[in-house]
Amino acid sequence: MTAQHRLAGLCLAMFAVAAGADGGAHEHGVAHLHLVQEGTTLSLVFESPLDSLVGFEHAPRDAAQKQALHQAHEALEDVARMVSLPAASGCVIGEVEVELPFVEDAHHDHHGKGEHAEHGEHTDAQAHYTFTCTQPSALTQLTVGLFKAFPRLERIDAEAATAAGQGKAVLRPAQATWTLPAPR
Ligand SMILES: [Zn+2]
Repeated sequence: MTAQHRLAGLCLAMFAVAAGADGGAHEHGVAHLHLVQEGTTLSLVFESPLDSLVGFEHAPRDAAQKQALHQAHEALEDVARMVSLPAASGCVIGEVEVELPFVEDAHHDHHGKGEHAEHGEHTDAQAHYTFTCTQPSALTQLTVGLFKAFPRLERIDAEAATAAGQGKAVLRPAQATWTLPAPR
């Protein structure tokens, strides 16, 4: 084995570790929240196993499951219910994009990636929220309503990158408020 081969192998191993740590893990009850603040733009990405939102990860088999998907979709589109930000930050919601598998949405022509998921596969849901904030320095904390909306959710691993720095937090039903990196 040449040094070059060893190096290539090492890089692959490091890449695998990085990919695993990058929120790609699918664990029922655990969701991920990524926050990026750049200037006046605040982006939030919420990613969760579908099971944690509706209790199953397959195409709906009856009216109750259809209804559960519909309700989850409506909840995720109701940004004010999902996330609250300090009033002083002057954040106003811009774009909302909800990707929920198996939802037939009459209004939008988007198809969940989950339509490709078949027997035995796991499926994730995503919501992207983009805000414009007049006072981004007042973004000191964020409170999620996700646990109330989705009782199966036990934990949210949250990561922030803001002008003030980087931060990580574990949110739980009893600790739904996230203290963001403090401005220097
Ligand atoms: Zn799953």
